[in-house]
Amino acid sequence: MQAATNGQTQVEFQDSIYGHKSVKEALIGLQKDKCCFCQGFVTDTSYGDVEHFRPKGGYQQSEQQSLQKPGYYWLAYDFSNLFFACQKCNEVYKRNYFPLADESKRALSHTNDCLLEDSLILHPELDNPEDHITFVDEVVKSRNQSVKGRETIKRTGLDREKLNDSRLEYLETLRVLAIIARSKAEEAYHAREHLKRLGQPGRLFSAMVRANFPDLV
Ligand SMILES: [Zn+2]
Repeated sequence: MQAATNGQTQVEFQDSIYGHKSVKEALIGLQKDKCCFCQGFVTDTSYGDVEHFRPKGGYQQSEQQSLQKPGYYWLAYDFSNLFFACQKCNEVYKRNYFPLADESKRALSHTNDCLLEDSLILHPELDNPEDHITFVDEVVKSRNQSVKGRETIKRTGLDREKLNDSRLEYLETLRVLAIIARSKAEEAYHAREHLKRLGQPGRLFSAMVRANFPDLV
């Protein structure tokens, strides 16, 4: 149970509701077991988190700002605000950060309209991350100096070392597959079909795959 203060009212959140097995399983199914931020598979090594895109208990625009309460308390049980995330992205990096392009547009209560907000962290469902983020080899970069790309990388730790190591190891295997796919070898057709599948949205690090092999996916 967590609590936040809404004016004079104490808002309490029941993690047994938003974190219920049925909610988590639905999110895992929709996201095909991938973390909504780093695109890594989650449940083979950990439980993963039900992440509130708009933080329920309090928010921070930046490190310079202390935790502002209440958060988006009215979205605590709103399924459209819930995503499945790995514990690293959620608990170590994103935490309560929810920076906006224009802080004066922030929805401060259930009477305000969240749709007026312009989040600097890319929305896992509504935004197309590839408009703002790309990969050079395994290294994630903000595309065309996108502020949203840069902020998303920073706030979800997409450039963390261990993630880079995992992406590189996977990429090295894909490069061998790409050589076969571009060759005249008997296996070329199967290699091309396989690479195409690996570039699909539900697959591991699929944005990196598409950025590195645009001609093959
Ligand atoms: Zn993650």
